[in-house]
Amino acid sequence: MSEDRVVTIDMLVQKILEMDKQYDLTKIISAYEFAAKAHEGQFRSSGQPYIIHPLSVAEILLDLGMDTDTICAALLHDVVEDTDATSEQLQKRFGRDVAALVDGVTKLAKIPIFNKEQQQAENVRKIMLAMSQDIRVIIIKLCDRLHNMRTLEFRPEHKQRNTALETMNVYAPIARRLGIKKVQEELEDLAFHYLDPYAYKEIEQQMSVKRAEREAFIASIIDAIRTRLHSLPEDTFEKEPQIEGRVKSIYGMYKKVFVQHKDIDQVYDKYAVRVIVSTIGECYNVLGIVHDMYRPLPNRFKDYIATPKANMYQSLHTTVLGREGIPFEVQIRTWDMHATAEYGIAAHWKYKEGIQGKDKMEQRLSWIRQMLEAQQTSDDVEEIVRMIKNDLSPEDIVVMTPKGDTISLPIGATIIDFAYRIHTQIGHKMMGAKVDGRIVPLDYQLQTGQICEIMLSKDPEKGPTRAWLDIAKTNEAKSKIRSWFKRERRDENIVTGKSMVEKEFKHCHIRIPEEEYEKFLTEDMRRHNCNTLEDFYASIGYGGISIAKLAPRWKEIYHKNYMQGDEPEDQPIVAPVPRSPKSHIVLDDISDCAVKFAQCCNPLPGDDIVGFITRGHGISVHTTSCVNYRAMLSRDIPEERERWVDVQWTESSDAAMQTSIEVIATDRVGLVYDITAILMESRIPIIHSSSRILKNGNAVFDASIRIMNKSQLTSTFDRIRKIKGVLSVERANG
Ligand code: MN
Repeated sequence: MSEDRVVTIDMLVQKILEMDKQYDLTKIISAYEFAAKAHEGQFRSSGQPYIIHPLSVAEILLDLGMDTDTICAALLHDVVEDTDATSEQLQKRFGRDVAALVDGVTKLAKIPIFNKEQQQAENVRKIMLAMSQDIRVIIIKLCDRLHNMRTLEFRPEHKQRNTALETMNVYAPIARRLGIKKVQEELEDLAFHYLDPYAYKEIEQQMSVKRAEREAFIASIIDAIRTRLHSLPEDTFEKEPQIEGRVKSIYGMYKKVFVQHKDIDQVYDKYAVRVIVSTIGECYNVLGIVHDMYRPLPNRFKDYIATPKANMYQSLHTTVLGREGIPFEVQIRTWDMHATAEYGIAAHWKYKEGIQGKDKMEQRLSWIRQMLEAQQTSDDVEEIVRMIKNDLSPEDIVVMTPKGDTISLPIGATIIDFAYRIHTQIGHKMMGAKVDGRIVPLDYQLQTGQICEIMLSKDPEKGPTRAWLDIAKTNEAKSKIRSWFKRERRDENIVTGKSMVEKEFKHCHIRIPEEEYEKFLTEDMRRHNCNTLEDFYASIGYGGISIAKLAPRWKEIYHKNYMQGDEPEDQPIVAPVPRSPKSHIVLDDISDCAVKFAQCCNPLPGDDIVGFITRGHGISVHTTSCVNYRAMLSRDIPEERERWVDVQWTESSDAAMQTSIEVIATDRVGLVYDITAILMESRIPIIHSSSRILKNGNAVFDASIRIMNKSQLTSTFDRIRKIKGVLSVERANG
């Protein structure tokens, strides 16, 4: 794994001289001298002089065929960041382009992708922006990362993992999307080595078993095909076809073996033979010859020439059976396709004069623009990282419009994704689709080769529904749907968002008064750039902010700031509100006098009640089961009895009343929390509560609560009785 190779400027110069491409050697050597001087006295974690790093990065870029300015920028890429050299100096000496490239790479270096979650989106966006300005910046960055990965073993262990993760999640997918396969595969293999060393070893070992045997087998196939091609008339091929063997990368194997659960022997393309010819016609010609020589396996032929992959990869793939019954893959492509397959966007520089048109470069860059656009409408950080990973999947399908235009989409894409890919408005107005002439449901998953015709609604008000968010597969479609809701349905989003927040609060047993929502959510609002609570609700409502990701933090904050551990010791949770009993009591004879509820029995609407005329404090209302009332009855003193009067509840006694409850249970951790949770779920405010342990070891939980009526209390009691360990629950009298 380790990279002990020391690259020198002499080696670089030698390499340049051997290439049949024009380079400005003086400029490159001058850049080297500048960098070597600036980095003098600096060392890498490996102990090597620092300059080895920029030299190595320049070498990788040279192998990709990048131009003079890119090589110079690679040599200088760390001087502004790590030495006294300035951008102005670079511009003066090496020109605007080199200085701008170094600036771009320096800026990229300052973007920690997996630092803090809330910064990720912004950071990835910056990377994309840098790419869209000059794609060479990201190509330098990819090679910089590649050399850092090669020397990762010298870094501290915790940094190894983070760097590997970042490489696997962001840089390797970008390399793949840009089609720079050489860099992509090595980045993946290196990252994989650090992320799952055991699996890496296992696959490496399995692949090395019988390696010599397999190599001999491949050599014999190459030989057989070459002999056959030579037996054809001399003018069959414009130029001698090149035939080569290819070994699958370790990470590529891992994906097949571990992710697709295939036995290593079932991976047919672990060894492949590649034939490179001059024209597309020759490709199909070779295919015919190969199928004539070996029996093709059914369903293993793929024509990526007629329908290229999303990253513009083109080739014919077929799996055939060798004479010994061993299957192997044959890839057939032109030189042009080969350049695209191996070097991707870098081929633009490698073969500047010849085959790579500006169109392909434009097509690749349009992907970056698409990503940037999608990101502008997305507030969800993880979605963007997901987007880089998912939307870059090489497993694409290609579907056609009725006019024959091809649209590539990830596997599992639905007609919704298809519609939004064609045009945002087509997506919004879609009401269904015909696939190969047949009407299909919205969640229909498209397959390669199908013709899809979108049916549009004539209703100008027509738009997507929220259910589409769950059906759509691509982040592109999802973010377009979300931005529609964001724009068109703000009021609705606020209501939806608020009720989602409240539902999640309930789910998490978070009980705070509505006036405090804003305070409670301040931090989240800030993180998601929402100035008002309404903006925040709206973002949640249209799906721009994922509530599931907020909830864990809410629980934490709530328990830290709003709950005092497991046992709320006489803590007022909700401030008492003034109540006026009079509004729900009807007195028989007496009118217009003060009424209060007795503290001894705390009557509730629905209880049988009586009133007691106090001296100077109006009427005090008791339940008929109150011990004080019972005592009076048993004393049977006439003048005392006269002071008791009949009272009734009014019809609509829906204002809250205060009462006390007492729960006895076997003591356990979390008991108080469970009881509190049920009270809160039943929307019963707790005025204060306390708990203590009895001598027999049982726990008593007392609470003053405010309830609407007796039936609410009865049903809450039923629920509390079901809590594990609860022995009894009663209204406490006094
Ligand atoms: Mn570097």
